[in-house]
Amino acid sequence: MDLRIESERLFKRLSKVGWTIEDCSLIAPMTLEINMLKKEQDAIILSHSYQSPDIMYGVADYIGDSYGLSIIASEKKCRKIVFCSVHFMGETAKLLSPEKEVLVPSIQGCSLAESITAEDVKMLRKKHPKAGVVCYVNTSAAVKAESDVCCTSSNVIKIVEAMPQKDIIFIPDALMGKNMMSMTSKNIMLWEGTCIVHDKFSPETVHEVRRMYPKAKILAHTECAPDVIKEVDMAGSTSQMLKYVKESAENEFMLVTECGLGDRVRAENPDKKVVGTCNLCPYMKGIMLKDILTALKRPRKEQVITIPESIAKKAKATLVRMFELEQIK
Ligand code: SF4
Repeated sequence: MDLRIESERLFKRLSKVGWTIEDCSLIAPMTLEINMLKKEQDAIILSHSYQSPDIMYGVADYIGDSYGLSIIASEKKCRKIVFCSVHFMGETAKLLSPEKEVLVPSIQGCSLAESITAEDVKMLRKKHPKAGVVCYVNTSAAVKAESDVCCTSSNVIKIVEAMPQKDIIFIPDALMGKNMMSMTSKNIMLWEGTCIVHDKFSPETVHEVRRMYPKAKILAHTECAPDVIKEVDMAGSTSQMLKYVKESAENEFMLVTECGLGDRVRAENPDKKVVGTCNLCPYMKGIMLKDILTALKRPRKEQVITIPESIAKKAKATLVRMFELEQIK
């Protein structure tokens, strides 16, 4: 494919988020090379919804949230997975696809995942021996290995309710935990981790956008604080927010989350308008096309996800337990 055709292919998708044909021609040599290497190496590229549009619409085969993408990758026949996201998401993909090579283009952390270690979980267990430990999927494999069950922002209530224990230690997202408290009969103990992206929103921002755009529906991620959640029209996971926008008859939305989700709405639902403000995740946005190219051509040691067998076995069991509890009616 020549560069002109590649630039036009990119422009078709990226023009919806404000890219010009000149912008597209600048990245066309790189997207061409990445897409060629991907085929040669029998690889698939996954992009979290918080990645930049050139990654989502230039090279990714699938766009979504961390757990959903890891499931998709585990079901695909391929040799290699390049996961454009933060480190723990690469680990989740590796847990579900141990036979595949999993690469993360850039070694990026996450304020939530890094707020807690496996040693912290052991200490919590000692302090509360009768409590069950539910970990949010935004944790390292080592933390998952020390927990009883994992959960996502979509199924957190269901998983907590299905636990046999009355006392539950929920790690590491304190804000998601506080949002959940009013919706469960369990005694919830929290860890003080937060997502720096969602923690930054305030109720005042929501009020201001409502005043300026009275017709807009306001949607927030459940990683936001309870005083923000109580002001919005809908709270949920990234996928639930996207589904809401797609299915809604309304056409103006504020998305109280990372800016990448707004880019997805603009690119995939051009009839819907995104208003107000959003926050950037410095970790997610730390990945560039050049990092994907390096991962495919000459992966650095730290770009290849490896998980010690003893940790992988226990962390996978924590994910499997989530799947089992999810099935309970
Ligand atoms: S958006 Fe929040 S939870 Fe997601 S990677 Fe960034 S800091 Fe972590």
